[in-house]
This record gives sequence, structure tokens and C-alpha cells, in this order.
Amino acid sequence: MATPNAWPFVEAEQIRKLRSPSTARSVLFQTGYGPSGLPHIGTFAEVARTTFVQRAFETATGLPTRLQAYSDDMDGLRKVPLNIPNGDAIETHLGKPLHAIPDPFGCCESFSGHNNAKLREFLDAYGFTYEFKSSTQAYRNGELDEGLSLLLSKVDDVLNVILPTLREENREGWSPFFPICTACGSINATRVTAYHPERDSVSYVCDRQEKGYSGCGAAGEVSVLGGNAKVGWKVDWALRWWVYDVDYEMSGKDLIDSVKLSSRLVRVLGKQPPAVLTYELFLDEEGRKISKSIGKGLSVDHWVDFAPIESLLFYLYQNPKRAKRLYWDVVPKAVDDYLEALRCWPDVPVEERSSHPLWHVFGGGQNVPEYGASVDFSVVTNLIAALGSDNEELLMEYLRRYDARTEQYPDVLQSLVHKGLTYYREQVLPGKLYREPNADERALLNRLHEALAASDETEESVVQSIPFDVAREAGVEPKDLFRSFYEVVLGQERGPRFGSFVTLVGKEKVLEMLQDKAIN
Ligand SMILES: [Zn+2]
Repeated sequence: MATPNAWPFVEAEQIRKLRSPSTARSVLFQTGYGPSGLPHIGTFAEVARTTFVQRAFETATGLPTRLQAYSDDMDGLRKVPLNIPNGDAIETHLGKPLHAIPDPFGCCESFSGHNNAKLREFLDAYGFTYEFKSSTQAYRNGELDEGLSLLLSKVDDVLNVILPTLREENREGWSPFFPICTACGSINATRVTAYHPERDSVSYVCDRQEKGYSGCGAAGEVSVLGGNAKVGWKVDWALRWWVYDVDYEMSGKDLIDSVKLSSRLVRVLGKQPPAVLTYELFLDEEGRKISKSIGKGLSVDHWVDFAPIESLLFYLYQNPKRAKRLYWDVVPKAVDDYLEALRCWPDVPVEERSSHPLWHVFGGGQNVPEYGASVDFSVVTNLIAALGSDNEELLMEYLRRYDARTEQYPDVLQSLVHKGLTYYREQVLPGKLYREPNADERALLNRLHEALAASDETEESVVQSIPFDVAREAGVEPKDLFRSFYEVVLGQERGPRFGSFVTLVGKEKVLEMLQDKAIN
């Protein structure tokens, strides 16, 4: 099979090239998660996209693979996240590892325990196949010990890589190791004062003063093995790549320097770094990076309330090197693009299918649903807006009349109507603003009413020409007439094609709306 040009196959080829052909173990894909907050849509995206590459790699090489979702739950908490209850209760624990902080939600053994459980629940709900790995457990059960011992024996080489990347004033006394204070439990307040590679330990003092926490003054010597210390996160990344022989990991553009540094550190430890992909960031409604501690933007659960999960996967599949907004207003177009792809799928030649997004969204093109009707998300929300009804049966009846082919796809239609109603109620309705027309607009919309009433045409393209004729006769730009129609009659800035709208809701209903909003 020629290599398909879809990006997951390009990534797969990169992994294949880096990998030694003699290696017998399965190929390891890893994703990272920082459980200082609840998993968000970016976490989901990273797992989904890694899965796309994993499937492509299996298809191209026939080799077995695994996906490991790694949670950095041994990291210290530096600030209280904004989207959690009982933030005050956590404040006194700042500087401690996440697993040592009580669960502010009150249901799990720790804060990271809660977030880890949520992550697993979330990945399970969407059917991902993965192995969960907790950093804390890995440190405690000794899985990382061999790597930690090696790091300590090469600490001068590690410092030579890292120190030049730090600002001058931060270099003095900097250490890759963060021992946990045996007196107070802080991980962020300790400072290494000497290395003892011959006995796998470090000496430390607990005396850092930072905003939110300060050291207790204790000093001592602790082993770096068995979870008594961790390494700082760029070193940590290199450590887990080295220990688990990770073959592939993707990460956001904001981590590009960390990836470079961690890759150099893996080489210092004597192995090849994994193949990596840097993806562009997900942005919230104001164009800022989606932040897990603030929880801005759209959640996966929200998306699923509004639209099928496959439409989100389809959206996330598109060029990972382009920044993506993840906000509720991207949903309608994402769904319409997805439905359009479903319509085209039967005509995609079999040999080209693995280059098509749907092949990746549906795990190798398995069970791609059939959809051949013209009804899409915009049609449904336009209809809901026009009828002002939340009666699902009535809406379905209109849609069946609009396009008889919908009869063949009752499940798709039902889901579009049900989820479209949720979207309309939560996102469209609160923003509706019906503007009063001025005298000129009133006259113009009145003429549109007369012209539509006088016409017996049912052909969509002919109905579409009616507002153009009215505008021309009145000497106004058609776009101005459309804007008046949308803002005054539909209470929104943009709207559907006039011809399709009349066909969808019926001429009598449009006349009634014009009468009601613009004429009386
Ligand atoms: Zn201490």
C-alpha cells in the first residue's frame, strides 16, 4: 500500500524511521496530563489525535502498539485553581505534591486522585483504549529508580544542558531534584545542597520562600529513589521517555522548548528521544490559550449535548498545526462539515479512504454512518428559530417535508433535532435581539411581504430571487434588505438563504413572521 498523505500516516512514518527494527516490544504512544485541574477539551484532543496516529501506525506497519495516559500527579501545586469548590481549604497545602493535597470535592483520597478519576471516566466514556499511569505510583513503586539513579550519576551533564537555558539569577543552586521535605511534606520549598550518587541520595534544606508557601527550615539527606524525591518537570519528561522507551508523544506549541530540552536530556541518558509532534494551541472565545486552571472555553460534555462526538473528532482531526478555537460558536459549522463528509463518503474510492478524515475518526473507516439527506445543523437551528417551538415531533415533521430523504436516517435526524434544541436554548436564544425596523425598512419588508404573498412559486431558486427583485425595485442593496430581514424578523445578525428558508418553514409561516415583526 502506498503511504497515504493524511497527517497521522506522516507521523507514523516518522516513528517507523526512528525505531530500531530489531525491537520486539510494542510501540508506545504517550500522552501527558497535569492533574492540577479537571481534564478539559485539550486533554481529550491530545488523546484523540494520538489515537489517530496510533491507528495509522498499526495499519502501515502491522506492529502492536500501546497508549499510555500519564498523569503528573507528583507535581507540586503552585496556585489554587479557580474552578474548584473550597479553594481556601487547599491554600494551606500549596507547595505539596498534588497527591498529598486533600480533595476539595470531598470524594477522593486526594486532589489529584479526584482529577485522575475524572480523566479516566472521561476517556472511558468516549471509548479510548489506553493504560493509565500515575507518576506518584511510578515513583513509589520503583519503576523510575534506575533512571533516577542514572540521572543522579550524570547530574553534572544534566546541569550543563539545563543551566544555560535558565536566567542568570536562577542558575545558582538550581537542581533537577526536588526532595520531599520529611518534616513538612513540601516539594516546592526544598533546595538541594549536595549530591551523593554513590548512595542515590541528596542533601537538602527546606527554606524556600515563595508566594503561597514557605519552607519549614528542616534539613537532611534523603534517597532520590522510591518516591522520596522527584525531578523537575522537563527532566521528568526525559525520565519517563527514557524509562518507558516512549516512541511517540505530541504536545502543544507552548512546550516546544521543553520538548527540545527533554530530548537532549534523553540523549544524555543514552537513548533516542521519541518522535514528537508540536500542535497549535486551542483557543477560547477571546483567542487565549485554553487554560486548565481557569476552565474557560467549551467542554467535551457540552459539545456532546449539542452535537455528536464524532463531529468533535472530525473537527479535531483537521490540521493540528493550525490553531483552533474551541468555543460553542464553532459547533454548527463543525457539524455541517462532518455531515457533508458523511454524504461524500460512499463516493470516496476505496484506495483513497485512508487519506480521508472519516477513516481516522471511525478507527480505520469502520462503521461510518450513512447520511444522504440535505438537513444539517444550520437547517435545524433555523427551523427552531422560525417556529419558536421545542416540539421535537413537529420539527421532525417539517424536516421530513423539507427533504423526504431524511426518512431513511431517523436516528441522525432525531439526534440533530434533540441536540439542536439544546444548542438553541442554551446558546442562541439568550442572544436573540429583535430590532425595531425604521420607517424605510418597514416599507421595504412590507414590499417583500407583498411580493412573496403574490408569488405562487415553490422552486427554491425562484423564491430566492424575490428579495433581489424587491431590493432592485426599491434601489437598495440586496445585502441591506437581507440584514434588515435577519435582524428584524429573525432576531440575529446572519441567517439562511431566503429561498431555502421559505422552503423549509413554508410561505405562510414566513408571511406571518414578516407581518408580526415588521408590518403591524
Ligand atoms: Zn519542610
